[in-house]
Amino acid sequence: MKEIIAPLSNLLVDGEISSTELTQKYISAIEADNKKYNAYVSTTFDKALDSAKNADKIIAEGKATVLTGIPMTLKDNICSDGDLTTCCSKILEGFRPYYDATVWSKLKAQGAVMLGKTNMDEFAMGSTSETSCYGAPLNPRNTANVTGGSSGGVAAAVCAGLAPYGLGSDTGGSVRQPASFCGIVGLKPTYGAVSRYGLIAYGSSLDQIGVLSNSVMDSALVFDTICGVDEKDQTSVNFNFGSIADSLGKTDVKGMKIGVAQEYFDGINDEIKTAIFDAIKFYEKNGAQIVDIKLPVLKQALPVYYIIACAEASSNLGRYDGIRYGYRPESFNNVEEMILKTRTEGFGDEIKRRIMLGTYVLSSGYYDAYYKKACLLRENITADFDEIFSECDIIIAPTAPNTAFPLNFKGASPVDMYLSDIATVPINITGVPAISVPVKNDSNGLPIGMQIIGKKFSEKTIMNAAYFFEKNYKNGVEDFEGGVAL
Ligand code: GLN
Repeated sequence: MKEIIAPLSNLLVDGEISSTELTQKYISAIEADNKKYNAYVSTTFDKALDSAKNADKIIAEGKATVLTGIPMTLKDNICSDGDLTTCCSKILEGFRPYYDATVWSKLKAQGAVMLGKTNMDEFAMGSTSETSCYGAPLNPRNTANVTGGSSGGVAAAVCAGLAPYGLGSDTGGSVRQPASFCGIVGLKPTYGAVSRYGLIAYGSSLDQIGVLSNSVMDSALVFDTICGVDEKDQTSVNFNFGSIADSLGKTDVKGMKIGVAQEYFDGINDEIKTAIFDAIKFYEKNGAQIVDIKLPVLKQALPVYYIIACAEASSNLGRYDGIRYGYRPESFNNVEEMILKTRTEGFGDEIKRRIMLGTYVLSSGYYDAYYKKACLLRENITADFDEIFSECDIIIAPTAPNTAFPLNFKGASPVDMYLSDIATVPINITGVPAISVPVKNDSNGLPIGMQIIGKKFSEKTIMNAAYFFEKNYKNGVEDFEGGVAL
């Protein structure tokens, strides 16, 4: 896949193009193509041009770092001061936060240029981005298909050349699965590796900000900048990753132990299974050692995830009452009716379903049977993963049981939709990192994604394994032609 950030940075530093010109190119591409993909839901072009001008000054002073002057996008649930941030929900209509998420302040400090906010499932709940109040984004690989979700707009923008890279959030797969559907790279870091301050909460013990990009190197360059402890997020961790970007390409995969769990392939479509096993063989041919591992706990991961995520969502979404943020109905007789109408009119069906499920599993009489049991099982699953990582360095698995399905395909059945998260949710439950990289196209020309999973804080290992694959595996997914031609 195409590395974009470092080559662009070289052009900027060599004076071949200014950040202002580059930003203008992306603005023109978005103006021309966004109606095809519905990737951006709001744009911040004037601010972007101001940031670009500022970046040009930094470059002229010789103080540029690799992200200086490079445009990018944020998912519509990551706050930036004064800019619309609506979680693609009517209930946050018109909401403009008055502070920056830590990830965005870190990027801004390097002179990054934000083009706008991108489409997503309402409050990040979904796997196709179709629950967005702005309508679904469309997959640039085939616009009759979904982008995946919930960070579908970021994936579409990055795939279609409407942003060099973007940040999304991953609670149960929302960075990796849309990356897989759109044939790009999606990194979900270790829980705590990147600050969540300024990310609008869905399931706080699972939420993690991640990177969507066109290559593993681009992902590493962004991760190197956004990771680190943050006093505003008490779950963030002080871990010294060093520079992962610098480490890429310096090692091969000889002697690397790759865990393969049969359970990860149960119920996975045959074409995907074959593609992932071919990739595993490629690693083996290059000197990696394949270790058969057992992960019987995998089948518990999906119910555990949907209980915990809904429980946390029902608590996190309690703050939307029409008083403090966004949408408020025009007429009401008293405060109670105002809150009721705000929520009835402001939340979509999927959000209401999850608030009800979450409230139910937390209610007295059911708490022990559902929520508490799910938390105990979560500990078991985490312990099993810990043990597995004493036998192997990484686990290879599919990112999703299917490639991008047609629009409206899963709409009729929420449970069917939930089942499509089977391969991604264990990673959030256990808090480990994983990266999705494109492997090849299926017979319909839609990309298949492979997940490389590691133990906590092993971003360097999984990204090196992914980089080796991206550089040396010959059966990859084609780069998408379109957007800003570089
Ligand atoms: N599809 C999963 C869900 O609906 C994951 C979403 C996410 O990671 N934000 O909960």
